Amino acid sequence: MIRPDTLEHLAIPGVVHGFFDRNGGVSLPPADSLNLAHGEGEEEGVAENRRRVLAFFGRDMDLVTLRQVHGDRVFIVGKRDGRRDGLADHQTPEGDALCSDIPGKLLMILTADCQPILFADPVKKVVAAAHAGWRGSVQNIAAATVKAMAGNYGCRPEDIRAGIGPSLGPCCAEFVNWKKELPPAFEPFRSNGNLFDFWAITEKQLTDAGLQPDHIASLNVCTRCNDGWFSYRREKNTGRLGAVIGLLP
Ligand SMILES: [Zn+2]
Repeated sequence: MIRPDTLEHLAIPGVVHGFFDRNGGVSLPPADSLNLAHGEGEEEGVAENRRRVLAFFGRDMDLVTLRQVHGDRVFIVGKRDGRRDGLADHQTPEGDALCSDIPGKLLMILTADCQPILFADPVKKVVAAAHAGWRGSVQNIAAATVKAMAGNYGCRPEDIRAGIGPSLGPCCAEFVNWKKELPPAFEPFRSNGNLFDFWAITEKQLTDAGLQPDHIASLNVCTRCNDGWFSYRREKNTGRLGAVIGLLP
């Protein structure tokens, strides 16, 4: 039985969301067991795992994913996007955030240490999901997602709720080459030498984009410290976690 972690402030009528840990799937080591990324292990296992995620919500929904490339492109989901059978979608678009106002689309971001960020606007009934590794944070994919929600659907930033899922915590996000890789604006979030608090960086980017501080929450789960979650830094060869959000059909 799979059961995702959730955030209370994303519990909005008509919206489903969840951060799935690695348990309850069929993929074999090293991607055991709820690996949700095609191309990261045995394909039939991933298809079955994706069907389990869809079945968890108990409604007919299309799972929509991206070919994530550590950029800042936001993909606007259309009526034909996504699949219900768990199989790989060869039309999968490139991008690092998904945004939709169409009921029955379950948006999924795949990670193993990067931040999955889920968004919902309870007023306009719009949802979004973003993938923010350090490159995504540098490009401010969080603000790009808010901008896409506002630009495409008329969302007001002050109405938008955001939730940060399991990812590298301030305990483990070590950047030896930070002077070269990270902008000066990130330096206030550095502690103990080369460790950075990317959860706080995202919260700052979201409040700068107009979100209210009490509309932002984090699960505060570090993937590297907790072996119930896939972690690239801990395991290198591993599966990918799914973070999902959608409007019920
Ligand atoms: Zn940690």
